[in-house]
Amino acid sequence: MKEAIVAANWKMNKTVAESTDFAQNLTKKILKLTGVELILCPPFTSLFPVWEILKNTAVGVGAQNMFFEESGAFTGEISAAMLLSAGCRYVILGHSERRHVFHEPDELIKKKIDVALQANLRPIICVGEKIEERNANQTADVIRRQYESTFAGMSMEDARRCIIAYEPVWAIGTGLTATPQQAAEAHALIRDLLADQYDRALADTMPILYGGSVKPANAQELITAKGIDGFLIGGASLVEDKFVSIAEIVEKNLEK
Ligand code: PEP
Repeated sequence: MKEAIVAANWKMNKTVAESTDFAQNLTKKILKLTGVELILCPPFTSLFPVWEILKNTAVGVGAQNMFFEESGAFTGEISAAMLLSAGCRYVILGHSERRHVFHEPDELIKKKIDVALQANLRPIICVGEKIEERNANQTADVIRRQYESTFAGMSMEDARRCIIAYEPVWAIGTGLTATPQQAAEAHALIRDLLADQYDRALADTMPILYGGSVKPANAQELITAKGIDGFLIGGASLVEDKFVSIAEIVEKNLEK
């Protein structure tokens, strides 16, 4: 069965107390949600306490980043083993803020993705173009470049465990969203690239999320676009009711 995923990227928001309050409240509100995988990606400091609350539920916990080395003199970094020990099963890699604010190049992101997979973490791999790239008709080139760097040399078994998020950079945190058609085109391109490298079955079953100013008011329109399997949500995921209503909208549209 096709996976539907709604993931929350809290970015640099929420103290431990705020994170655990959210997780506690979420456990009461998600009882009816069965067909959608929910993933919370709090800041590092909240990973373990949030996991402790959610460990007996179906809600997964993910990190927002990691480093590719196992251990050592890498001040401020965190390893895959540390994430696993905090209860993480997922890790967001290649988020546009990592790419463009912290200048992480494709090669670094690729190393992290490979190490995450080896460690049995599922990477949520973000791809997407900047506004100047879209305006210059380079959207497909950017997605292709980011795709090729990510999947170079990756086995089919590992590829099957990846989750992709198409997140146009100009739509993240701006209130702008891709139109359903723009999102569907990007998702179709990614699936074609996967089908060429692996096969159509893998391409069709890979969860590909959309991200970029998703909120309850636009989730219905976006989820009905072809090839969108759920959302990676920043701003709106900070508020339980908004996060839960987006998840409910995704659930209602399962098997669309
Ligand atoms: C994100 O951080 O991945 C994101 C999509 O943010 P927002 O929903 O705030 O645009």
